[in-house]
Amino acid sequence: ALTGHKGWKPVWRDPEPQSEYDYIIVGGGGHGLATAYYLAKEFGQARIAVLEKGYLGGGNVGRNTTIIRSNYLLDGNEPFYEFSLKLWEGLEQDFNYNAMVSQRGIMNLIHTDAQRDAFTRRGNAMIMHGAGARLLNRDEVRAMYPWLNFDDARFPIKGALAQPRGGTVRHDAVAWGYARGADMRGVDLIQNCEVTGMRIENGRIKGVETNRGFIGAKKVGVAVAGSSSKVMAHAGMRLPIESHVLQAFVSEGLKPLIDGVITFGAGHFYVSQSDKGGLVFGGDIDGYNSYAQRGNLPVIEDVAEGGMALMPAIGRVRLLRTWGGIMDMSMDGSPIIDRTHVEGLYFNGGWCYGGFKATPASGWCFAHLMAKDAPHPTATAYRFDRFLKGRMIDEKGQGAQPN
Ligand code: FAD
Repeated sequence: ALTGHKGWKPVWRDPEPQSEYDYIIVGGGGHGLATAYYLAKEFGQARIAVLEKGYLGGGNVGRNTTIIRSNYLLDGNEPFYEFSLKLWEGLEQDFNYNAMVSQRGIMNLIHTDAQRDAFTRRGNAMIMHGAGARLLNRDEVRAMYPWLNFDDARFPIKGALAQPRGGTVRHDAVAWGYARGADMRGVDLIQNCEVTGMRIENGRIKGVETNRGFIGAKKVGVAVAGSSSKVMAHAGMRLPIESHVLQAFVSEGLKPLIDGVITFGAGHFYVSQSDKGGLVFGGDIDGYNSYAQRGNLPVIEDVAEGGMALMPAIGRVRLLRTWGGIMDMSMDGSPIIDRTHVEGLYFNGGWCYGGFKATPASGWCFAHLMAKDAPHPTATAYRFDRFLKGRMIDEKGQGAQPN
C-alpha cells in the first residue's frame, strides 16, 4: 500500500502570509477554522487568514473524545448548544466532507433520587428547546447495557437521562473539512505561524506580530483554546480563565460492546466505543495549572477506578494510549464570545471540557460577531462582563463536565 500512496495533492494551499488582511483568526483549531469558513461562506467576507502556531488540528480539536450533545439546562446555554447540534446534523452536506457524524445517543446515568430530580428538570428544559430527551428507568438501561454494574451498593444505577440525538463525530475530520472549505473560499491557512504580540494604536488593533513578521489586520479574532490567557496578555488582558490538562484514553480494540455514549453519574468517567473497537474514555482534569499537552498518573488511576466501578468487565482490557490537551477553564464553566476593550479585537474561549460539540455554533457566532459587530441571538449571554455583574451561567454540571 505504501508504494501506491504517491502523488497525493494537498487538500489546501500553503500560502505565504500577505502583509495585510481584513480578518485575522488566531488559532487553527476547530473554532478558528469554523469561524474563517463561516465568515467567508455565510457572511460574504474576504481577505481572511487563519494563523496557526503548529499544524491545523494539532490542538484540542484533534485530542478530544469526540462527543456531541445539547443536553443543557440554562437559558444562556441550551439554545446555543441546540443551534450547534442542528449545524452538526447538516455539516457533512454543508462542507461536503465525511466527518462521520454519528447520532448514536448519549445517556447520563442516575444513581440517586436527587439526581433523578435534577435530570428530570434538565430533560424538561431540553424538550422545551426542541433538543429532545428521554428519562429511562433502571430496566430500560439494563436492557441496553446488561453488563453495567447495576447493583453496586455504593453507586446503584437507578436510570438515565438520554439524548438520542447526541453522539460522536470524527474530530480531526472536522478540522480538515472546515479547512478545505475555507481554503476553497480563498481563506489563507498559514501554519507554523505563532502570534507573539499585538500592535495596538489609539485603542485600535492594527495587526499581529508573528514569528514570520508583522501581519496587518482590520479585525483580529482570537480562538486559541488552552492558550487564551497567554495570547490575550499581548493585549494587556487578564482573563477569568485557568489552563489545565485534560487526558483521554483508548483501549485495545474489542468486539462491539457500547453503541452509544455513557456517562457515569457518580464519578469522573465517560465512555464510547470507536468504529475500530477501542473504548474511548476520559474523566476529570489534572488538578494543577499547566500548558503541557500530557497528563499525570494520579488522574489515570482515578479514571481507571471510575471505569471499574461502572463496568467491572473491563478489568482485563489493556489500555493502548493516553494523551492530553490544554483546557481553557472559565470560572463558571461557560464560554466567552465577545468584543474586547480594544477596537477590532475579539475573543472566543473558555470552552472548558466541552468545546468540541460547540465547534459549528462557536464558529458561526464568532463570525457573526466579527462581521456584524453584534452578537448572534444564541450567544448573547457569553459576555466578559457577566463576571463583573454577577450574571454567571453556572452550569458546571453540564458545561464543565468532561465530554
Ligand atoms: P484547539 O484545537 O486547541 O485550537 C487552538 C489552536 O490555537 C491550537 O491549534 C494552537 O496551536 C493554536 N494557538 C495557540 N497559541 C497560538 C498562537 N500564539 N499563535 C497561533 N496559534 C496559536 N469537547 C466536547 O465537546 N466533547 C468531548 O468529548 C471533548 N472531549 C475532550 C477530551 C480531551 C482529552 C480534551 C483535551 C478536550 C475535550 N473536549 C471535548 C474539549 C474540546 O476539545 C475543546 O474545547 C475545543 O476543541 C477547543 O477549541 P479548538 O478546537 O479551537 O481548540
